[in-house]
Amino acid sequence: MSDTVTFLEEASSRLGPRGLTRDADLIEPWLTDWRGVFTGKALAMASPSSTAEVAELVKLCARHGVPIVPQGGNSGMVGGATPDETGRALLLSLRRLDTLAIDSDARRATGGAGVVLQTLHEKVARHGLRFPLTLGGKGSATIGGLVSTNAGGTQVLRHGAMRSLILGLEAVLADGTVFSALTPLKKDNRGFDLKQLLIGSEGTLGIVTAATLRLVPAIADRVVIWAGVPSLQAARKLLLFCEDAAGEALEGFEVLPHLCLHAVLDHLPAARPPLNGQHAWHVLIEVVADSSGAATLRDRCETMLADAFGRDLLEDATIAANDTQAEAFWLIRDSIAPAERARGPAVQHDISVPVEKMPDFVDAITPAIEREWPGTEVVAFGHLGDGNVHLHVIAPEGADPAWPKGVGKTISARVYDFVTEWGGSISAEHGIGQLKRGELSRLGDPAALAIMRRVKAALDPADLLNPGKLI
Ligand SMILES: Cc1cc2nc3c(=O)[nH]c(=O)nc-3n(C[C@H](O)[C@H](O)[C@H](O)COP(=O)(O)OP(=O)(O)OC[C@H]3O[C@@H](n4cnc5c(N)ncnc54)[C@H](O)[C@@H]3O)c2cc1C
Repeated sequence: MSDTVTFLEEASSRLGPRGLTRDADLIEPWLTDWRGVFTGKALAMASPSSTAEVAELVKLCARHGVPIVPQGGNSGMVGGATPDETGRALLLSLRRLDTLAIDSDARRATGGAGVVLQTLHEKVARHGLRFPLTLGGKGSATIGGLVSTNAGGTQVLRHGAMRSLILGLEAVLADGTVFSALTPLKKDNRGFDLKQLLIGSEGTLGIVTAATLRLVPAIADRVVIWAGVPSLQAARKLLLFCEDAAGEALEGFEVLPHLCLHAVLDHLPAARPPLNGQHAWHVLIEVVADSSGAATLRDRCETMLADAFGRDLLEDATIAANDTQAEAFWLIRDSIAPAERARGPAVQHDISVPVEKMPDFVDAITPAIEREWPGTEVVAFGHLGDGNVHLHVIAPEGADPAWPKGVGKTISARVYDFVTEWGGSISAEHGIGQLKRGELSRLGDPAALAIMRRVKAALDPADLLNPGKLI
């Protein structure tokens, strides 16, 4: 009997029929990544239902030399959860690890890797609490995937990315050892912080099975503002002003150029422009109150905006009159990606530079790329407060849908060269996966890459955890 057959028989007897399938119809939807760029093959798909089952399975894989591709909601943007084309790897779905315990007194939740972000939001809301991280893929993204990609979103400005919201972690290492550090200690100086090593490691160092997450009080009130400014430099000045004026209450500060707004208005016929006049750049600001004093939030924001006008920091602004209008403002922001897709092909980048350099960076890269690839349009939008924008290079009008496949790599290499010269990162949110692996090894700091490779070799010497991803 071949080793593969023995492995599958042993795995099947340990996990049972729900825990292991070779049914092509069941596996097929999970073999292509969210953006439809990568498709692979898998030996089988395992769906264990407990940490103990994950540990047993990983030990079995180690014994038989079977590579493992961990997968949560498959909403990642860089092909990290897609196996390669050899069909040698086991696709390990963590979606059945979906238990959730909420401790409202301690303001924390401990959830299995498979808990979906939206479910987490809904369940903690019933306790008057919230998990302050949200993103467009929340209906699919799981705790395990969010941890493993150190996901961000629109509230990083105030609460940080996943890394700062994780109090404890449980993971299965490549030899089947269970690393259990779920107990949330505020202070703990017993050497290396191993959970931080696993966060953002994209399934290459361990399989995340559970995490303890920090919760904050539910929002008691919020004010959502739409402002028009003449330039990205002006948006940055307005950000500094709002940080001073609103302090901790400033939760979101998103920017978009007029081109993005018009693309969304064309795409969503029911959407209305929040301001009447023409502005080169638009800013979406969210200010929140967690508890008492909520009644004064609107007054505080009105004073803040009046002050900003007085100092010439914005051209025009409006406060959403109610929650429906606030949601309509956010819908414009959240519809940029689909609106751009509807406009035509584009090459997309998710990059960061030091916050204070972002306006100059965008002013420098935009004409450089548009000159080198005539007819293209560079659009930058997103989280200015985090020094992170989505930088899309839109194809010349009438370009073939396959345009990104032809020039995409060359354009991206040029963008990443620029980002590196400016001291930035080629991945601010989505991670490296298989999409940017080559670029990371081309442009990454050699010392950092060497350390990462040594850590990988120490924890996974046989290279069985998500091979071909990240490093
Ligand atoms: C519309 C949309 C908007 C998005 N917006 C944002 C955004 O604003 N910010 C942002 O950061 N991301 C964003 N994303 C990307 C994506 O949602 C995140 O990367 C998310 O963290 C992926 O979670 P997942 O469960 O789907 O992971 P998957 O896609 O299944 O996997 C992602 C990576 O994590 C690994 N992995 C998954 N589960 C585990 C586990 N339990 N143990 C070890 N490794 C594991 C996989 O191998 C893979 O490398 C967006 C995605 C979509 C579709």
